[in-house]
Amino acid sequence: MLTTKTVILKMDCSDPDLLDRTVRTYTEGMNYVSAIVYNFGKPKGSAALQKIVYPALRGQIGLKSQMSCNVVRQVTGTYRTLQAQVRAKKTGWQQITYAPTSMTFSFGRDFSLDGDKIGLTTLEGRKKYRFFRYPHMERYLDGTWKFGASKLVKHKDGTYYFHLCCERETETREVAESSTFMGVDVGQNFLAVASTTDKKCRFFCGGKAKDLRNIYSTMRKRLQSKGTRSAKKMLKHLSGRERRLMTDMNHRVSKEIVSFAVQNRVDVIGLEDLSGIRDRPDAPKKRRYAHHSWAFFELQSFIEYKAREKGISTVYVDPAYTSQTCPRCNHISKNNRNGRSFVCECCGHSLHADLIGARNIESRARTYRYTLEVQGCSQPPGRELST
Ligand SMILES: [Zn+2]
Repeated sequence: MLTTKTVILKMDCSDPDLLDRTVRTYTEGMNYVSAIVYNFGKPKGSAALQKIVYPALRGQIGLKSQMSCNVVRQVTGTYRTLQAQVRAKKTGWQQITYAPTSMTFSFGRDFSLDGDKIGLTTLEGRKKYRFFRYPHMERYLDGTWKFGASKLVKHKDGTYYFHLCCERETETREVAESSTFMGVDVGQNFLAVASTTDKKCRFFCGGKAKDLRNIYSTMRKRLQSKGTRSAKKMLKHLSGRERRLMTDMNHRVSKEIVSFAVQNRVDVIGLEDLSGIRDRPDAPKKRRYAHHSWAFFELQSFIEYKAREKGISTVYVDPAYTSQTCPRCNHISKNNRNGRSFVCECCGHSLHADLIGARNIESRARTYRYTLEVQGCSQPPGRELST
């Protein structure tokens, strides 16, 4: 399966004049070619079109050779999409006009990467620009990913960003052929708890972030009760900061979880399907809040995509009573739980209470595999992700 990811690099560009001119000229080329294709009445093959427009793109308009090729390819692509929509009677044949806000580059042809510099072919030849190389980008830049056609984009704030398209072929084992599972319970006393089929487990506490979250929530309450203008401003600032901290933490913890899975040769990670958890009668109030907050969805989706990169699939299981079910005899009761300890009132099985969720999720993921086997299909439907 081809995994693709767009990494957005913020460029450190004090003098955007040359880039502005380059993008403008490129767009002029796009609109020139667009008019020709429009008048022709249907998309033309890239090679044939290239022959017709190349002299003007290089001469009158003044594009570099590789830019001319990209222009032709991009315009052809847009008109092919348009043609498909026309055939589906969704729209009519029309002339497409491009705005001078973005430009496509091909890796190795007109863009290159070197450390924290990006080399771009401009109207004045190859220029190097520094970009902000943040830690979360490292794994895409470590040589294991290939780069596809990427875009230089001028955002509304006037700054240039490079939308780097990263691709990698990954093989995920089919769920029905898997033997080692791992359940991940998110957002109770620990940020996450993982437990594998071989009963290896680990607690992920997320460091200081959890305390910070409590501090923020107290501050927020105080500010909300004030209701003044400056308090509102402070609140907004707070939520942005808190969000970034949680996202950083989710990146870190999901990475740890997936590497724990890799160490233990896990094939499938089981997560709770938390959509709709709010209405569950068995979810205590605190947990209901925690589960409904975006941070836990984010953590799950980070785990999912980082796992996929390592060839590990993810299944989402029913979260009902995962914290009250005995992993040995399946007896469900609130009384099984008493604070930090779990003792099954039916069979006497006892375990650290924080582990129960992960154990049950692991077991449900494993059960899911047998169901799939019986039904003769091998891949579960994925959860729809908003990210
Ligand atoms: Zn039991």
